[in-house]
Amino acid sequence: MYLAQVDSPDTAYSQHRPASRGIAGLAEAVVDLSAVRENVRSFRKRVPQQLMAVVKADAFGHGAVPVARAAVEAGATWLGVARADEALQLRAAGLQVPILTWLYDATELMLLGDVDVDVSVSTVSELHRVVSTPNVHSVHLKLDTGLHRAGSAPDQWIELTRTAAHYEALGAVTVRGIWSHLSHGSSADAVQSRRQLQFLRAGVGLARRAGLRPGVVHLANSAGALTLDAPDTDLVRVGAGLYGIDELGIGLRPAMRLVSKLAQVRRIRAGEGVSYGHDFVAARDTTIGLVPIGYADGIPRVAGRRASVLCHGVRMPVIGRVAMDQFVVDAGELAVEPGAPVTIFGPGTSGEPTAADWAGWAGTIPHEIYCGIGNRVPRRYEEGLR
Ligand SMILES: *Cc1c(COP(=O)(O)O)cnc(C)c1O
Repeated sequence: MYLAQVDSPDTAYSQHRPASRGIAGLAEAVVDLSAVRENVRSFRKRVPQQLMAVVKADAFGHGAVPVARAAVEAGATWLGVARADEALQLRAAGLQVPILTWLYDATELMLLGDVDVDVSVSTVSELHRVVSTPNVHSVHLKLDTGLHRAGSAPDQWIELTRTAAHYEALGAVTVRGIWSHLSHGSSADAVQSRRQLQFLRAGVGLARRAGLRPGVVHLANSAGALTLDAPDTDLVRVGAGLYGIDELGIGLRPAMRLVSKLAQVRRIRAGEGVSYGHDFVAARDTTIGLVPIGYADGIPRVAGRRASVLCHGVRMPVIGRVAMDQFVVDAGELAVEPGAPVTIFGPGTSGEPTAADWAGWAGTIPHEIYCGIGNRVPRRYEEGLR
């Protein structure tokens, strides 16, 4: 009964849907997996280490499973995620490469052990928790080398490594890795990164003296992988770079295009205000277009004053306040019609803004723009978009 009720309007809608370059709903995020593969290959060409594809936060909003598959196809040998549920999702989808997760609840340890997901350990009490589950976990001991976020405090490191060696000798745990995270990993200047590398080397030395033989030592993120010469590390953890966030300008390709279409078009007169509070008042008669995507979908409200989108090959400024579900653009005297495709951001190759442009307008970084694209925006996967 319920289904029948919601079915009929849906069907009616799809029958009368205007054909507008395949955008089925109000907006969609089109992800080009060939860009992800190409970006993985760019790193593999430049960096001798194995590549861990960091697909946390649903692959920065791009979709964890399709991105993980594409990255593995292109040569990533590890996957990294922040949280346990993200690791479980990848295993459930059939991904078999080693996975590391660095944030988890004690109650999730059993599940992680059952599907052979490695966990990060920063303290002796975390280690106790890991060995107190029935599974034998592979762990990566994390040393804080200067970020001062997660990781073992330096003065706890000897105790942590000795305790881990003790448990390993008993067969209760496997220390597969030793790692740390950079504090200035997005900067072109590697002075702090080199300091952290020295610190990590000392930590690995102490771990060896405690009897540990970690298979993988890792430190660098995307930009760190390119700036830090660290031949004695085994892995680089690449997140941003996979998606084409090109912090060092090596020619990475943005993988996501956020598109919509005009839901309504109308004329307003000079002197009329647009959207809440009438922050924008038309200086002349003009045509306005309604874009049916808003801050609930990740369009930064604060960017409204400066942003523009591409429609019919023309940049149209966003006018008035961005609302939860929609915003308005000024089409001027251009003849536009409802259904006209709108590109909110993309690779920037056809004149559209990029996620980096939106980040600039919103005073943030492209990472946050990508991660902010909400659940109401379906992801669609395409190959070879340019
Ligand atoms: C997010 C994250 C990465 C990836 O960093 P990028 O700068 O996006 O490449 C690597 N390691 C850890 C611990 C992270 O949290």
